[in-house]
This record gives sequence, structure tokens and C-alpha cells, in this order.
Amino acid sequence: MPPIRDVMPAFELFQPASVGDALGILDRHGADAWVMAGGMDTFDWLKDRIKKPKVVVDLGMVDELRGIKDASGGLEIGAMTTLTTVANNPLVKERFPLLAAAALIVASPQIRNQGTVGGNVSQDARCWYYRAGWPCYRAGGNICYADTPTSVNREHAIFNADRCVAVNPSDTAPALIALDAEFVIKRGSAERVVPAREFFVGPGIDITRLTVLQPGDLLTAIRIPATWAGKAHYFEKVRDRQVWDFALVNIAASLNMSGSTISDARMVVNGVAAEPYRLDAVEAAIKGKPRDKATADLAADLAVQGAVPLRHNAYKIPLVKALVKRAIRGEAEWATS
Ligand SMILES: Cc1cc2nc3c(=O)[nH]c(=O)nc-3n(C[C@H](O)[C@H](O)[C@H](O)COP(=O)(O)OP(=O)(O)OC[C@H]3O[C@@H](n4cnc5c(N)ncnc54)[C@H](O)[C@@H]3O)c2cc1C
Ligand code: SF4
Repeated sequence: MPPIRDVMPAFELFQPASVGDALGILDRHGADAWVMAGGMDTFDWLKDRIKKPKVVVDLGMVDELRGIKDASGGLEIGAMTTLTTVANNPLVKERFPLLAAAALIVASPQIRNQGTVGGNVSQDARCWYYRAGWPCYRAGGNICYADTPTSVNREHAIFNADRCVAVNPSDTAPALIALDAEFVIKRGSAERVVPAREFFVGPGIDITRLTVLQPGDLLTAIRIPATWAGKAHYFEKVRDRQVWDFALVNIAASLNMSGSTISDARMVVNGVAAEPYRLDAVEAAIKGKPRDKATADLAADLAVQGAVPLRHNAYKIPLVKALVKRAIRGEAEWATS
């Protein structure tokens, strides 16, 4: 473990009151600047002195980044909206209970009160070697300490590893992909809208970050279209302790039913790769099939094709299979109520 210190290294602190001001500061300071939302990931990095930005841009005063509003039957959620607000908002609960369930199970009530949805999807990898300051690939070095015969890699990836075997730790990320959400990113005077799936990147694309966000970028909002409003859904998170813990594996599914037949589906697992892992083959295979045991068994086998376990995490393969089966059979509804 890194030494936890009470006093952070010095940095220049900016507390802009508008998106325009925040973007101006980010533009001026480039890679020297660190965006701070709720601080739940940020403070760990700063206090452990593993990341030492010269400038911190605290978004806490930017009211226009907070709130949830209707968008033609879908929703637009400001990046600075807390996870508690997302989980409890009546519109989210009514239209997209999948997202409410995911937000409600993040960490602890205290962290959900402070942590934001923008920060939750933008948080960095929890790999303990990296977070302790070991100079691995993700930190700009030329080795992965988690992928050796003696590594402690029980919580690491089984899919899409490319040198780095860290996983994406977010609970809301797979739910947002399963709802076809879009992420609004501003930079200077430009704006781009990125589909949720493309917001997250694996090590083969960029080994130093989990998302497309680059210095100067500000995630301002998350848009969820009406497409999956009111459809069947399933969210389940498996963790070592039923409190204050990251997922070993979680699953988010949206299912469009025509009678008893699945007419369309989104199925995403997280905690298994550096990006939330969308189960394309499963989605294609279950279309037109009933939500029953035979479909679930077929999907479970497809879900883990290509999985490559490390020394200590082969348990994730049967775990993914079990979660896919439960999502298709619609079991454990208690997990989302
Ligand atoms: C003990 C503990 C347990 C946790 N357990 C879980 C868990 O079970 N599941 C889970 O999903 N999460 C968990 N978390 C993470 C937590 O839920 C927070 O949601 C998350 O770390 C960051 O949210 P934040 O708003 O505090 O962002 P910050 O910590 O301030 O920022 C996180 C990262 O996102 C970037 N960022 C934030 N907002 C923006 C923006 N608008 N534009 C551009 N970049 C931005 C920051 O630069 C930083 O790199 C846990 C955290 C702790 C400390
Ligand atoms: S898994 Fe990734 S973050 Fe962890 S030590 Fe290996 S390269 Fe670094």
C-alpha cells in the first residue's frame, strides 16, 4: 500500500462558476490540469502523491453541470449530478430503473452523496500495483506487475487484455451502455457527442487511460434516449462484501420483449476488461428467443468465448455465465427493486 498522507502536495486550485470558465482554465493549463468532480477518486491519487497535477479545477461551483431533465422521453443528466440523486430521481426510476439500480449499489451512501455520475464513469483503474505507484505500462513504464506467475490478480481482466490486465471499476458504465447513452464532451468552443460504448477504451487503443477523455476535455452531460425507457432490465453486482466494495463482476441488461419473445437486447458486463464488455454475440443470439432456460444456457456459453483467465481469477468465467443466465431468466428481481 502507498503511504497515505494527510497533507496533499501543493497545487494551484481553480473553482470556476461556469462551464465556460472551466473550459478556459483547462485550455490554458493543458496536461498540467486535473478535473475534480466529487473528489472520491481524485483525493486518493493526490493524497497518495501518485499523481501530482500542478492545477486542480474543482467543478463543485458549476451549477449548470448538475441536474436531470426530460429530453424527448429520454433524459439528460448533468455530469456533476451525484450518484444519490441519480439513484433516487423519480424520472430515472420510472424510465430507466436499470441506471437507478446501478447507481444505488455504488460504494456507500457517503460516497454516493459526494461522488458524481461523470466522475463514476471517468474514474481510473483500481489495480493495486498501479495505484501504489508501481511504474507499470499504465503508468508509462514497460511491464505489467499484475500479469506474472506470482502476481495478485484475483480482480483483474479475463477479456481483451493487451499488456495491461486492469479492469474498469464503474457500476454505472455498463448500465449506460445498455441504455444506448451518449456522452457530451466539451473542449474549448467545440462539442462532441460520443456513444457510451466508444467513451471507454481498452489498452490496445490507449494504455494510459480508461476513457477517450484527454487533457482539456470536460464531460458535461450524459444523454439517454427514450429507446429503452420502460423496457425490461436486469442489474446485478457481485462483490466480496455487500457494502463499500467494487464489483468482481457486474451485469447490466436491457431487454425489449414482444410477448414472451426477446425482440432486442443490450447486455454488458464490467469488472472483466479495461472497458465495459458488451456481449455482442449474446445479444444477437437471444433475439427472437423466449426468456427461458434454454436461451439462458446458450447465452452463457457464448458470453465467455475468448475469455483468458489469469492465475487467480478463473472464477470470473463461471461467474459471468451465471450472471448472464440470471439476466435472461429475470431472476433475483430483488437486486433491482
Ligand atoms: C472506498 C471507495 C469505494 C468505491 N466503490 C465503488 C463501487 O463499488 N462502484 C463504483 O462504481 N465506484 C466506486 N467508487 C468510486 C466512486 O463511486 C466515485 O463515483 C468515483 O470515484 C468518482 O466520482 P467523483 O465524482 O468523486 O469524481 P472524481 O474523483 O473527482 O474524479 C474521478 C476522475 O474523473 C475525472 N472527471 C470527473 N468528472 C469529470 C468531468 N466532468 N469531465 C472530465 N473529467 C472528469 C477526474 O479528473 C478524475 O480523473 C468507490 C470509491 C471509493 C473511494
Ligand atoms: S494491470 Fe495494468 S495497471 Fe495493473 S500493473 Fe498491469 S499494466 Fe499496471
